[in-house]
Amino acid sequence: MIREPLLFDISEKGKRGFRLPELDVPGDPSLLKGLPLRTEIEDFPQVSEVEVVRHFTRLSKTNYCVDEGLYPLGSCTMKYNPKINEVIASMKPISYIHPYAPEELSQGNLEILYVFERYLSEITGMDAASLQPSAGAQGELLGMMLIRACLEDHGDPRKTVLIPDSAHGTNPSSAHICGYGIKEIHSDGSGRIDIEDLKKNMTKEVAALMVTNPNTLGVFESDIKKITGIVHSNGGFVYMDGANMNALLGVCRPGDMDVDVLHLNLHKTFSTPHGGGGPGAGPVAVKSGLEPYLPLPVIKKDNGKIFCEYDRPKSVGKVRSFYGNFLVAVKALAYILSLGPKGLREVAEFAVLNSNYIRKSLDEHYHLQYETPSLHECVFSDKFQKELGVSNLDIAKRLIDYNVHPPTMSFPLIVHGALMIEPTETESKRDLDNFIQAMKEIAREAKENPTLLKEAPHQTYVRRLDETKAARNPVLKWEKKSDKNDRQT
Ligand SMILES: *Cc1c(COP(=O)(O)O)cnc(C)c1O
Repeated sequence: MIREPLLFDISEKGKRGFRLPELDVPGDPSLLKGLPLRTEIEDFPQVSEVEVVRHFTRLSKTNYCVDEGLYPLGSCTMKYNPKINEVIASMKPISYIHPYAPEELSQGNLEILYVFERYLSEITGMDAASLQPSAGAQGELLGMMLIRACLEDHGDPRKTVLIPDSAHGTNPSSAHICGYGIKEIHSDGSGRIDIEDLKKNMTKEVAALMVTNPNTLGVFESDIKKITGIVHSNGGFVYMDGANMNALLGVCRPGDMDVDVLHLNLHKTFSTPHGGGGPGAGPVAVKSGLEPYLPLPVIKKDNGKIFCEYDRPKSVGKVRSFYGNFLVAVKALAYILSLGPKGLREVAEFAVLNSNYIRKSLDEHYHLQYETPSLHECVFSDKFQKELGVSNLDIAKRLIDYNVHPPTMSFPLIVHGALMIEPTETESKRDLDNFIQAMKEIAREAKENPTLLKEAPHQTYVRRLDETKAARNPVLKWEKKSDKNDRQT
């Protein structure tokens, strides 16, 4: 592959991307007098328009995206996002409205939020939802704030939150930011919450259990009713991390499992673009007991008119400006409406089918720490390959050479050397087979030529990077005299 030069490297003095016409009024440089003006920007690249366009177009082609192929990042639900969602979100009356526009002039957009909130409540089996949080992690924080507000209101704030050892790192982080101590709950041999450990730790000091269902091993907590019962009988709340809702859509509802509060990740389950830093959204759905504490405004409908309710003295206040990431909500609603109830259920069914197809096809080639049947994702480990000196990182890097995005690595933490694969429902059998084939080839290469894997990727723009060095000592400034080949690290 030819290395794309930096714009600095192809700069030639005097080249221009545009030319302004001669001034037809008298220019008056004295107006700018006293300002710290540069007469010339040192080393600023001088290139033509076509050079700039081609440079960035070529760079964009070195990236990988979900429109290009399978993106099997476990836990992240990197599904294909139908383009109709974008078309609807970019319609002018939707995308041009100012958040300060008066309610009478924003009835249509407020109705979108109102209807969307109703749909999310129905899909999750909860009573109400707040659309404000910008991401799952912020949803978790809001959920913990609601629990704390309610407990304090009843004069019993409590001290601790219980979190299973398979949980996503944001769970303990959110509980901690909310002022709680964390107690870890063990998983049993099947990868589920160890009920005895939960019973032992579920004291009157515990404010909540944070549970992910299906959990990060892709395993359904089949004792969820028993679990919520244990927590409730001791006066605690059950928070569900709903990041894996893709596996449950239209099949079962957290509300029916007696969950008190959960977040959804619209950028995962509800098909709004994901990656590149967002924007995302992490709505929080609650049972009626937590409703008085929801952030403001709450969007209501009365006599056909939609309005924002601000009169809720117990509200925890705002967690995000205006109404949250409005256009993300629009895309998610477009997705829900275009699929309908049957389509949403099929999302879960195909997501589970695809994951199990991969799991069964690869179980002789990669180690499975948990034999428990899983739902929408499966977690292998590098145990077989480790014996040959090949790690999960080597496998992931080699996948890039097969033009597949690597899966999530080294998470969940309870599986050493984890490779966490979530194909999602949007992949065809052909694409799944290509992925499976690549994984099998890599398992064979690990036996025959481990060095090939240890030096992968071979086909990419840059080779294996020192990721720690790249993060700690990023080279962000162009040095004229440095050796050009050095710059790729
Ligand atoms: C993605 C994820 C989160 C965090 O969600 P963000 O939207 O990235 O903040 C929390 N828990 C689980 C299980 C997740 O997969």
